[in-house]
Amino acid sequence: MVLSNGAWLLPLEPGQAVSRGWPLPTGPQGVTWHWTATRDLLTCSKVLGGNNPVRKGQASAHFGVGRTTQEGVDQYVALENRSWHAGIEQRFRWDGQALTSANDKASRTTVGVETVALGFARSGVPAEADWIDVDTPDGLTRLRVQPWTDEQVTMMIEIGRAIVAKFPHIKPEHHHGHSDLCPTYKQDVLGFPFAKVLRGIYQDDTLADVWTPCRTVLDRQRVLETLGYSLGPSGADGDWGRLSREALVKFHADSGLPAEPYWTTFTCRKAYQRLHA
Ligand SMILES: [Zn+2]
Repeated sequence: MVLSNGAWLLPLEPGQAVSRGWPLPTGPQGVTWHWTATRDLLTCSKVLGGNNPVRKGQASAHFGVGRTTQEGVDQYVALENRSWHAGIEQRFRWDGQALTSANDKASRTTVGVETVALGFARSGVPAEADWIDVDTPDGLTRLRVQPWTDEQVTMMIEIGRAIVAKFPHIKPEHHHGHSDLCPTYKQDVLGFPFAKVLRGIYQDDTLADVWTPCRTVLDRQRVLETLGYSLGPSGADGDWGRLSREALVKFHADSGLPAEPYWTTFTCRKAYQRLHA
């Protein structure tokens, strides 16, 4: 295990972004993956960990995963306790259902893992040739996202295996990104290599990649049309308008998900199931 020696663990005391224990006796119900929007792990660890973090009392995570084996993994909160990693503007919970109780917020129900990545290209953060094109959950913005490194994927798998060894009721479908819970508020971790990471964690190469085929609005429109949802006369045209939004809401309602217009990891899973039923 590449885990650091705990030098960045938050003290379990008032005023720190850590809470003792989990509300449910089984512990957390899932894993929420994040990106740091930083270049290195040290910056993330100074912000979220140690005795006097930059975001003291505001935000934390259980782990921070560097981009290289040399950076390794830092731990900020023990798995026995809760980290304050998500909950603001949260619409959905770990299973894709609507968030109706504050008790179901991610900071009370999921393990939070930060992965060091710049996030999406923006002013001062230019994209490189290998960055990933992905559209936001509302279908209105195309982002170019920095890919995760192979060494990082290996470390994410190790962390995931440690989490699942402790909480074996956490299954592949209980992993999601911050933006899947808070699609109007967050972009992390759009473009995340879920298939690679989950196949490694669960040692199961048959786990389907339900994400890559749904990265862009054109992909999503084609899926909806294939499943019989009309997009009107213009069809799948790469322009996410009112009819596309309405088709997505109907697909969600028909699939047992909240009737909301955001394409999330939960949508990807349902779409794959319906396409392969
Ligand atoms: Zn996040």
